[in-house]
Amino acid sequence: SLSERLQGVFKKLRGKGKLTEKDIKEAMREVKVALLEADVNFKVVKDFINSVTEKALGQEVMESLTPAQQVIKIVHEELIKLMGSVESRLNLGSKVPAVIMMVGLQGSGKTTACGKLANLLKKQGKNPLLVACDTVRPAAIKQLQVLGANINVPVFTMGDKVDTADIAKASIDYAKSHNVDVVIIDTAGRLHIDDELMEELVRIKEAVHPDEILLVADAMTGQDAVNVASSFNERLDITGVILTKLDGDTRGGAALSIKAVTQKPIKYVGIGEKLGDIEPFYPDRMASRILGMGDVLTLIEKAQAAIDEKKALEMGQKILSKQFTLEDFLEQLRSLKNMGPLDQLLAMIPGVNKSVLKNVEVSEKDLKRIEAIILSMTKEERQNPSIINGSRKRRIARGSGTTIQEVNNLLKQFEETKKMMKRFADIDKDLKRGKLRL
Ligand code: GDP
Ligand code: MG
Repeated sequence: SLSERLQGVFKKLRGKGKLTEKDIKEAMREVKVALLEADVNFKVVKDFINSVTEKALGQEVMESLTPAQQVIKIVHEELIKLMGSVESRLNLGSKVPAVIMMVGLQGSGKTTACGKLANLLKKQGKNPLLVACDTVRPAAIKQLQVLGANINVPVFTMGDKVDTADIAKASIDYAKSHNVDVVIIDTAGRLHIDDELMEELVRIKEAVHPDEILLVADAMTGQDAVNVASSFNERLDITGVILTKLDGDTRGGAALSIKAVTQKPIKYVGIGEKLGDIEPFYPDRMASRILGMGDVLTLIEKAQAAIDEKKALEMGQKILSKQFTLEDFLEQLRSLKNMGPLDQLLAMIPGVNKSVLKNVEVSEKDLKRIEAIILSMTKEERQNPSIINGSRKRRIARGSGTTIQEVNNLLKQFEETKKMMKRFADIDKDLKRGKLRL
């Protein structure tokens, strides 16, 4: 697989100390072959390799990473960029009902995706309606009705004799009088792209002005999926892609090329035949999956972005030598805040007790109060919190405009953070010792 191929390339790099320009170029040649074999679009591969090579050659030396790790880091970042950097969500606009139109070739998974999406939206408290606009395939209407019945979502149909643009239009009227807030239109597909199909879809589009036109593409078809996405995008100006059948033996090429070729994001992925088998598309997770290194990679990325490496190391040493003070704690809270949702980050650290997460979550407001409390302490108290007895707590609470309870909470949080920082320090150590391999 692509993942195995790439890991093979990086393994070779790992054996070397300092990487030369020749090493990097050689590795990039192998990455290139691996990507092409995974059916990634040729032009996308070329741009990707150029950009990674340039960054790898020009990179600043980061003390905490080996040269091989630095190359992996760059490849990982570029993979994420390729797939769209930020995750992208349904954009349902403001008019009611919102309209989602599903398009794609026959067998790509449109009808199934309609059901999956309706199911998701219903769980989010929406009131969706499925609309049967595939009047070509004899069993298509029945298939949608069965799906609808399964998830208790109504299905709008006018049989197979009525013009599909008229059906779509009528479904909007129905939605308005039946308290429906999202209309999901299933459409016909063909085995190949043809003018008749495209014209029909354009007419439906013009009849109902969808908020989302989602192309459903089969990941198993690799390059073809990308070509299909291009053609549909040219005719319909799609808003996004649902990439199906990622549970199968796909080579990853479609996921990597679609965004770069069409400039339209992958919004969801289908990972099985059942109605629950759908996930939002996360470029960073997909990149990690392709590199086969899991969430540890994400954790390190975020930690590096937010904490100056040297400082983190000093901090780790302080914790180990039990000198970690409330002043360090405050500094740490400030830098942790830059990393984004703290609970998400902490959940990725192996061995962190999830029940602790609640207590270390920090909001902007919390941070202000914590600051006030710590600043109301004497230097001695900040360095050695164990001396903070009842009367000191009362004084600190009064001085910071908080309560004794809050001072207690802070001291508890401090102890928990100390434990957590020790995990960070351990991970850092393991990385340096090569026990935790990237
Ligand atoms: P349509 O012709 O585009 O409407 O495609 P369908 O929704 O009828 O799906 C065609 C086939 O693909 C069906 O057998 C589905 O169960 C299957 N299918 C759809 N999505 C997925 C998926 O994400 N994973 C897998 N393994 N099968 C899927
Ligand atoms: Mg169908």
